[in-house]
Amino acid sequence: MTHSPFHTARRIVVKTGSALIADGGAARTEWLARLASDIADLRARGKQVILVSSGAVALGRVDLGSPSPARLDQKQAAAAIGQPRLMSAMASAFSPHGITVGQALLTLSDTEIRRRWLNARATLDTLLDAGIVPVINENDTVATDEIRYGDNDRLAARVAQMMGADLLVLLSDIDGLYTADPNSDPNATHIPVLTSLSAEHDAMATGANQTAGMGSGGMVTKLAAARIAHAAGCSTIITRGNRDQPLRAIEDGALATLIVADITPARAREAWLMGHLKPEGTIRVDAGAAKALHGGASLLAVGVTGVDGVFERGAAVAVRHDGGDVIAKGVTSYGSTEILRIVGLQSEDVEAVLGYRGRPAVIHRDDMVRV
Ligand code: GLU
Repeated sequence: MTHSPFHTARRIVVKTGSALIADGGAARTEWLARLASDIADLRARGKQVILVSSGAVALGRVDLGSPSPARLDQKQAAAAIGQPRLMSAMASAFSPHGITVGQALLTLSDTEIRRRWLNARATLDTLLDAGIVPVINENDTVATDEIRYGDNDRLAARVAQMMGADLLVLLSDIDGLYTADPNSDPNATHIPVLTSLSAEHDAMATGANQTAGMGSGGMVTKLAAARIAHAAGCSTIITRGNRDQPLRAIEDGALATLIVADITPARAREAWLMGHLKPEGTIRVDAGAAKALHGGASLLAVGVTGVDGVFERGAAVAVRHDGGDVIAKGVTSYGSTEILRIVGLQSEDVEAVLGYRGRPAVIHRDDMVRV
């Protein structure tokens, strides 16, 4: 890969498919060890890495006595058996590098409902700050059809979006997108770089491309994931993961498709905040806070003078300089009732009043756009 996106990436989400993790119901420990060593290298280069791993169903189904579970409840039961095995294999793979892993099982609402992603993001941020590698999977045992991501490609893209990652790596059993099915069409050519995705690319993702992998995501879902990432300012790499050093190989020029994002995650988030948030209420702030927000700071309780409207934590709100103009829009970490109780308080006094330790900021700077 000529212009490696690994060089500039600060936060990377790596997704591994079931076929890479499991073989005949057993964890592929040697491959996992190599993946862990690649991730340890990235971290040594100052990058934060989140792993999204499939394999819970594949590692649990044999013990369920049904090697190819078809019913949803069977898959869910298999995941209940396989998920702790997956984590145990992950912990063993990372421990020689002195790296601790932490499990996070998400359901769709954790990334789609703002109040919940404030929580999920804060937890994952805390893990990353502590030097932990979060290992994420869908909470298969409880998530049911209507409320599932369905495949871990999309889950990984949602995580990348939520966490402001700048690179998403989808490791699977094909080395990227081809103009046609390479198994049946001798003229099929590999596409190394794309700057946007169109219906034409979806049409290419058919045949063998379509059914790649033993997990639920083929090339079509990989492109869907890449689209989500692209809109969030995150580049995507799709490649074959079954190599000696699955991540190093990409930087060394292994065949892969890179879908380049044209904006940064911060810019994408600002655009999203601008375009998608219909304020459900207003938080009024004093002159000191107005100035601090202008300088890029988070909004703290001490600068709040009041609220207009009734809203929940996670709501979209406008921020108004008291008696003046709207100066920002954002996603609030506190509901209006709580804000009224902590108006003007220093952050260290908030806990005594609310009876619990809330978020440090009423609106975090990353969740706010100045208008
Ligand atoms: N969450 C599923 C598992 O761990 C896999 C879903 C997928 O591969 O897309 O088995």
